[in-house]
Parts: sequence; structure tokens; C-alpha cells
Amino acid sequence: MSDIIQLLPDHVANQIAAGEVVQRPSSVVKELLENAIDAGANSIKLLLKDAGKTLIQVIDDGKGMSTTDARLCFERHATSKIQKAEDLFNLNTKGFRGEALASIAAIAHVALKTKEDSDELGSEIKIEGSKIVSQEFVATATGTSLAVKNLFYNIPARRNFLKSDTIETRHIIDEFQRVALAHPGISFLLHHNNNEVYNLRASNLRKRIVAIFGSKMNEKLVPIEEKTDLITIQGFITKPEFAKKKRGEQFFFVNERFIKSSYLNHAVVNAFDGLLEHSSHPSYFLYLSVPPSSIDINIHPTKTEIKFDNEKALYAILRATIKHSLGQYNVAPVLDFNRDANLDVPYKFNGKTGTSTPKITVDPDFNPFKEEVHKEQKKPYYKEKTTESWESLYTHIEVESKESNQETLFVGDSQKETGKTIQIQRKYILSAIKSGVVLISQSYAHQRILYEDFLESITVKEANSQQLLFPVNIQLISSEIEIIYSLKNELENAGFSFGEFTKTNVIIKGIPVSVTESQITVILEELIRDIDLEVPDASFSHFDLMAKSFSKTLAIKTGSILSEVEQENLVNDLFSCKEPSISPFGKSTFKTLTLKEIDIIFNK
Ligand code: ADP
Ligand code: MG
Repeated sequence: MSDIIQLLPDHVANQIAAGEVVQRPSSVVKELLENAIDAGANSIKLLLKDAGKTLIQVIDDGKGMSTTDARLCFERHATSKIQKAEDLFNLNTKGFRGEALASIAAIAHVALKTKEDSDELGSEIKIEGSKIVSQEFVATATGTSLAVKNLFYNIPARRNFLKSDTIETRHIIDEFQRVALAHPGISFLLHHNNNEVYNLRASNLRKRIVAIFGSKMNEKLVPIEEKTDLITIQGFITKPEFAKKKRGEQFFFVNERFIKSSYLNHAVVNAFDGLLEHSSHPSYFLYLSVPPSSIDINIHPTKTEIKFDNEKALYAILRATIKHSLGQYNVAPVLDFNRDANLDVPYKFNGKTGTSTPKITVDPDFNPFKEEVHKEQKKPYYKEKTTESWESLYTHIEVESKESNQETLFVGDSQKETGKTIQIQRKYILSAIKSGVVLISQSYAHQRILYEDFLESITVKEANSQQLLFPVNIQLISSEIEIIYSLKNELENAGFSFGEFTKTNVIIKGIPVSVTESQITVILEELIRDIDLEVPDASFSHFDLMAKSFSKTLAIKTGSILSEVEQENLVNDLFSCKEPSISPFGKSTFKTLTLKEIDIIFNK
């Protein structure tokens, strides 16, 4: 038989490759804008005709290209951004495949003008369907202008497949917004059919968001900021009351690259838990920075999906950070005390889930006073081990700690009168505050307190563990043992320590300080049940699930009598929480009634 295998000619190979890179005009826009950014541009102009079908032109003031490079950039796998495969793990540029220009040049009429700063004259190259039609020296500004005309002119099937101008323009604007949001320090101009659509000056992130989405956006934004060893998070979310029926302005950027991640989106939405009306969506603009080596952006050809090494930890940190900000900006003002942001020690993640070696970080927000208050307050809740009765949970309160808490919580001259509490029907606590009264559900409030405490000890602190004098042997069925085994690391973080696992038994050698020996079985059984019930979500965050489960099992229940000191401590602990207003299960923990509202009741 004769040989039948042939190498495809370059222009055919490029056309095939183009199918992957260029789906529609917006794909070209994305590639050209990213090239301009990679070239270090400070100012980028995007000119469009007919939704990009007739013309897409990007003009930048970046570093430009030499005459040789101007020709070479249209070759497949021609890139200045990586040299060897390892470079992929340390990417600081948007592009790296060296495919975009080759692909675009295969399916359009392309005109490139470019000049490096050191050169007197620049180069102009015209290409049609991968063939160079002309190359000349021209006088042009430093930087690059790339015009892409008549996209898909030689692939009628693709051209016919394009949607209406309105839809294609929408796609382009989406890409443009993503790039512009990722780079607030660069100025961007967008003209469509000679009309100015956007004229964005170089500015900061907040101004950039407002410039794109309108001035009304300004008041809706709540800043987000967190820095840990694994990740830095910055940006804004919108307050829950501005959540929209339609999913819209939701942006994640990882190392200045827009990405889509339903996983991280879940973390954000989850953080709003209980604050959103059903089926409404918060907007967010979140900028994550992680070490380039901890992500893989190579798994998707158009690079909007990436893989993280520490996905679960990132989930937990993101969620906790957003909850924290929501707590500060939405809930605190309801009670008219000034919560000092500096008093809130955010969850810091120190690499506990077997990530990297834990480092010691200095927390700039750390406030030793706050920590003191915390410890003193919490002792009675968590140190009480000798009794099983919930009623004794709040004994042994150091009274001195009361005054100082009172001051942080209830500012104003009437502080001496506030803080009085009354328990109602062994279920609620009524407390006077500056503006009126607050009614607290003792059980939901305690759930919130325990939940945050567990979450913190699981993700942040060294485990607070107590060794048992006599290890406890717990009998379970094998599927249950499996669940406990799969959570072993997380449980150890929470303060458990285990001996041998067999098919039917597990030996418990140590437990968290907030748990008593007699609660071990019930707390583990409840956890197993909760994990079982939460199957679809189980992969998301076991930390959260465990903290929820423990808090539910351990929280004081309706019917427990609390002494006045215990009540006050519950109140103080609740309002030291990052998000005091709702229980971990979305129930309100308290309600305030202002003096005005009380007046209205009596003066109707
Ligand atoms: P990649 O961006 O993956 O490297 P491209 O096909 O998009 O591949 O671009 C190929 C090369 O052309 C780039 O690596 C870069 O060196 C050069 N280049 C493209 N656009 C520009 C530009 N606007 N300014 C300067 N150089 C550019
Ligand atoms: Mg590129």
C-alpha cells in the first residue's frame, strides 16, 4: 500500500487552531487586549465596526515589536512569553500559547503597525488568510496597532453562525469590562461605529467599577480585604439589599485574570447565607492573588477556568472573609455601637490542611486587648467539663471582664444603664441598649458563638485539645467509621485525637476543650448524620459543616435557665462575633426595637 499520511499545510493547521481560539469577535477582542496588557501598555483603545464583524482594532502604547518580531508574531507557537514548559508554572502574562495572532491571521484580513521606542521607524504588515501581502517601514507611534477586518471572511459557515450585532456587541463588552476591571491602572477607550461607549481613565478599583457600572454603584459597595499565606483577597461585594434578580455583575479575578468558578461563587453566595432574598444574586468584584505556581490555567483553551492547588482552603478563607465584611458593614450599624474594625481579628489561615509548612505571620489587625477579653469570656463556656448539665455552662464568670466588654459594645454615656438583661420563658434574653432594646434567642445566639469559635479553631488556631485519661471506644457501623476516617484531618484540627480505627470501632484519645466526654458519641453521630444529609455539598467545606454540626449539638437549648451573668456573657459573646445577626443555619439571632418603635406602639 502507498503512504497516505501528509502534514497539513500551515494555513490549514492555523485555520483549524483558529476554531478553538476564535469563536466570535469577542474572542479576538480578548486576545488583542491581553496582548496589549502583556506589552505593558498604559493606554489601550478598542475600535469596533459592526459588532466587530467588520473591524476590531486595538491600539496600545506598549513596548511594540521589532521588524523581525512583527513578522514572527503571526507564526504558530510564536511567543515571547515562555521558553520552556516549566515557565508555565510561573506565568505573569496573559498569553503564553503563541496561538492567538496566528489563528486570527488565518481567518481575517489583518493589518499590524508597530514600533519599539528605540526605533525611528516602525513596521506595517498586512496579512490575509495567513499570507503576508505586504511589509513596509512606516512612521508610527511607539506601541502597536492591530486591525482585524472581515473576520471569518474565508469561512462562510462560521461567519453565518455569528449572532445579531446586539448579541455580539454584548459579548465584546463583557470581555472589555473584564479586562478593564482587572486593570484599573490602565486607561481604556471603546468606540463602536465611531460612538464612544467607554472612556475609562486610569484610576483605582472602586472608581473603575463605578465608571463602568454607574455612580449608583458607589454606595452599594462593601470593601473586602484579607491577606493570608495562601491568598490575598481584595475587592468589593454589594450589600445584600442590592442583590439582583438577575445574575449579573459577578467577577472573580485571579492574578489579574478573569476567571469563572462555580466553586468560588458558591463560597461567596454561601457567605451571604440568610441575608439574601430567595433567588437573588449579590454582585461582587473579587481579586484573588495566589502564587502562580499554585494554580493551573492551562486546563481550558480560552483560559477562563483554572485549577487551584488549595481549593478547599481557599473556599473557607473566601467565605469567612466575606462573612466578616458583611458582618461589619451590615449588621454592626443596626446596633448603635461603634464596632471598631481593628477589634475584629479575621480568620487567619495558617496552612493547616497539609498545604505548606506553616509560617508565622504578623497580623496587623491583632489586638491583644481583644484577645484577653475573649479568653476571659469564654472560659466558663468551654472549660466546664465536670458537669453535663447545660445550666451550669455559664458559671464561674470573672466579673471584671464584664465592664470592659460593656464598653466596647455599648458606647455612649448611658452605658452604665445598659447591659441589664432579663431571660424570658427560658428562651429569650432581653437587653437594654442605647437606642432601645434587643431581644436575643439564647439558643440561636449560642449556636452562632460556638460556630465561629469552632470555625476559628479548625481553620486558624492550634487545636484546643484535651487528652482523655481513659480513651473512649466508640462503636459505629462501617460506613460511619468511613465518614469519620475521611474527616480525620479536619477533626484533628478541631481538637480530636484518634487511636486505632477498625471496621466497627474508633478509639478517641482526645477531644476539643469545648466538648465533654459524655457528648462525644452524640456529637460524632450528629456529624455523621449531617454529612449524610449534605452529600451534594459535602466536597465544599467540611470545616463549615463540622462547625455547624457541633454548634447545633452543643448550643444551649430552649428551657435552660441562665443566670444574669450568663445572660450578659452570652450577649457580649454574640456581639463579638463576626456575624452576630444570624445563626449558622440562617435564623435571626436577635431583633432590636428602637425607642422610636416602642413610642409608636404606645402612641398609635
Ligand atoms: P502569546 O500572547 O500567547 O504569546 P500571541 O499570538 O497573542 O501569543 O502573540 C505572539 C507574540 O507577539 C507575543 O508573545 C508578543 O511577543 C507579540 N505581541 C503580540 N501583541 C503584541 C503587542 N500588542 N505589543 C507587543 N508585542 C505583541
Ligand atoms: Mg496573546
